[in-house]
Amino acid sequence: MAAVQLSGIFKRYGDTQVVHGIDLHIDDGEFVVLVGPSGCGKSTLMRMVAGLEEISGGDLMIGGTRANNLAPQQRNISMVFQSYALYPHLSVYENIAFGPRIRKESPANFKPRIEAAAKMLNLGGYLDRLPRALSGGQRQRVAMGRAVVREPSLFLFDEPLSNLDAKLRVQMRTEIKALHQRLKNTVIYVTHDQIEAMTMADRIVVMNAGRIEQIGRPLELYDHPANLFVASFLGSPSMNFAEGVLVNRTQGSGLALKLADGGEIVLEGAPASAAVGAKVTLGVRPEHIETITQTPDVTMQVEVVEPTGAETHLYGKIGGDTWCVTTRQRSKVEPGERVTLRLPAAHIHLFDTESGRRLV
Ligand code: ADP
Repeated sequence: MAAVQLSGIFKRYGDTQVVHGIDLHIDDGEFVVLVGPSGCGKSTLMRMVAGLEEISGGDLMIGGTRANNLAPQQRNISMVFQSYALYPHLSVYENIAFGPRIRKESPANFKPRIEAAAKMLNLGGYLDRLPRALSGGQRQRVAMGRAVVREPSLFLFDEPLSNLDAKLRVQMRTEIKALHQRLKNTVIYVTHDQIEAMTMADRIVVMNAGRIEQIGRPLELYDHPANLFVASFLGSPSMNFAEGVLVNRTQGSGLALKLADGGEIVLEGAPASAAVGAKVTLGVRPEHIETITQTPDVTMQVEVVEPTGAETHLYGKIGGDTWCVTTRQRSKVEPGERVTLRLPAAHIHLFDTESGRRLV
C-alpha cells in the first residue's frame, strides 16, 4: 500500500507544455479518478506516475520515496490498460502467471496467489481456456488478475472499460469497485466518462487543458462545482445554463436575471455577493426544476419529449439555450405546449460569466 504525492508536476514535449504544475495528494487506500475531456493530460499524468513518461518538473513521491527517477519495475505498480494485451497462445492461468515467471518466482510461491485472484475475479472455471474462448468481460478480468497477483502498492487503470459494450461497462464498474473494497489498495483510475468517475471514485480530480479544475468527493463536486467547466462536465443530462445580467425585478421585489432575448428569470434567493448589473450565468440541474407550480420563475415552450421509463426529459429553449427538465412523473406534456418552471433557490448555481467562477 502507498500514498502518492504529486508536487508541481510538469510535462513538456519539446516547447509544448501539456501538464502545468499538478499538486495532488492521494491517501493510502484511496480510489482517485482523474476525469476530463480527451487531450486534457490525464494519461500523460498517469504515465508519469507509472514511469512510462519522463517527468519534466516537480516531485513524485510513492510510499514516501521520491520516484521521479525510478524505473517502472522499481515502483511496485500494476497497470491495467484499455487493450487487455493478453497473450493469445497462453491459457488464462499462464497469462496471469506470466509476470511472476518473468520475475523468476517459484510456482509454489505464485500458484496460491493466482488461484486466490482467479476465485476473487470469478475466473476459477476458466484457467485452462485460451483468451479467444472468453467474453470481453472475462478478458478484462484476466487483465485485472495479472495486475492483482503482483500485489502492487498502487494500481493504475487507464480507461480500462472503453472497449466494452454499455451493459458490460456497468457490470465491470461494480466489479472494480468491489475489488477495491476487498483489497483496499491505492487506485488511480483515468477515464473521460463522468459517470464512471461519479460512481467509482472516493475522490474525483477534474482536469482541463493540463490543469486541475477541482478535487473533491463525487457529490461535493456535483452539488458545488467550483466553476462552469466542472458544472457542465459532471451530470447527464448536463446542467442547464442561462447567461444574463442581474437586474431588479420589473414586477415585485428582489432580483432577476435579464436574458439576452429580453426574457427574465426570477431569482428567489438573491445572492449577497453579486451586484445589480453583474454579468452572471445561472445553472440549474434538470432534476431540480419543478414543473407543477403556481408561481413560476420562468416558462418554457417544450420542443421535444423523451420518456426513458423511470423519468421524462422535456427539452425547450430558454434565453437561446436548450434546457432539459427531468420529471419523475409520467408527463402528459406534448411538444408545443408551454410549461411553467420553478427553480428552487437551494439548487440555483450562479457563476461569474467572465471568469467562470462560482458566485453562490
Ligand atoms: P488524455 O489522456 O487526457 O486524453 P493525453 O495525456 O493523452 O490526454 O494528452 C495530453 C496532451 O499532450 C494532448 O494535447 C496530446 O496531444 C499531447 N501529447 C501526448 N503525447 C504527446 C507526445 N508524445 N508528443 C507531443 N504531444 C503529446
